[in-house]
Amino acid sequence: MKVPFVDLLRQHRALAKSFQKQLAYTIANNHFILGKPVEAFEQAFARHVGVGFAVGVASGTEALHLSLRAAGVGEGDEVLIPSMTFAATALAVLYAGATPVTVDVQSENALIDLQDAGKAISPRTKAIIPVHLYGQSCDMDQIMAFATKHHLKVIEDACQSHGSLWGKKATGTYGIAGCYSFYPSKNLGALGDGGMIVTNDAALHQKLLMLRNYGQPQKYRHETLGFNSRLDGLQASFLSLKLRHLKRWNRLRQKHAARYRQKLKGLPIQLFAQEKQLDGHIYHLLVIRAQQREKLQTYLSSQGIETNIHYPIPIHAQGFMKEANAPQRPCPVADGLSKEILSLPMFPELTPKEIDYVCQALHAYFK
Ligand SMILES: *Cc1c(COP(=O)(O)O)cnc(C)c1O
Repeated sequence: MKVPFVDLLRQHRALAKSFQKQLAYTIANNHFILGKPVEAFEQAFARHVGVGFAVGVASGTEALHLSLRAAGVGEGDEVLIPSMTFAATALAVLYAGATPVTVDVQSENALIDLQDAGKAISPRTKAIIPVHLYGQSCDMDQIMAFATKHHLKVIEDACQSHGSLWGKKATGTYGIAGCYSFYPSKNLGALGDGGMIVTNDAALHQKLLMLRNYGQPQKYRHETLGFNSRLDGLQASFLSLKLRHLKRWNRLRQKHAARYRQKLKGLPIQLFAQEKQLDGHIYHLLVIRAQQREKLQTYLSSQGIETNIHYPIPIHAQGFMKEANAPQRPCPVADGLSKEILSLPMFPELTPKEIDYVCQALHAYFK
């Protein structure tokens, strides 16, 4: 049996006819750049997460970059980020002209460790980017309290947490801005690149509209250094179709995670983070921790099971950080995790049979 890590085709086959209709509609109406489909999706997405405003942008990376700029974070400022995250969290800080300062993570969930964040604070620290890694919600009560105490702006990296909640509110709605990615394999994915910024701040919203569109408040008047960083009309129309399924897809991921957890009981591996509340984890990734990870990955591969590592090199050890002369804070927990984590197949259309096959392989390996 072959178990893919992600199989987008299973999801897209069912939607292909509606996608084609949207394509024909887009061509017939010239809805390529911004316009109605983008506005409609922005409104639907804002409603979905429960915020006042949403701004469609070119990618999750650009969502972070433009949010930092709109929040006035730039040259001379330091931004706290967890060392265990996708590189884009740090790259966006550098694009904004600021310095990413890596903070270690908690060993039980790989989320930013506020105790270490406290040690990383300097007079230049201006913002913090909590990352809701793997689909798990960060403790936003603690993060907001920390940010208030140290006068930091909070920009949430919700690129892996479309629809996860902390308390009664969605992740991405606690900070001044929440940033989403619609990279195809995310919980909500486009048929290409795409991103979104959500906010309740009307002034920030206005700035973001300018920043994503060459700095124009109106055509050919360029008030500020802006970018060409818009969400495509076609992608917006695809995303509107897919948004209707997001809740159901997240439920399926949670169901799969519960099955994995039950079937993996008793093995010397640790499953990352239990849900502390309903929708506290929407399982963008299903990550386990095991000794001799490489050996395990090779064995699973020999059994036809595709796995991945998120992420093998923590941010503080990446070449671009050295190149940028960003402070290299030691992050021993992130270092340790990077050698033990392994992501198992996880996507809504995964079947119970496939999960059972993966779990049987893991049992066989540890026998
Ligand atoms: C995917 C991702 C991004 C970047 O999103 P893109 O749309 O690929 O630019 C940023 N941060 C995290 C945590 C991500 O998973």
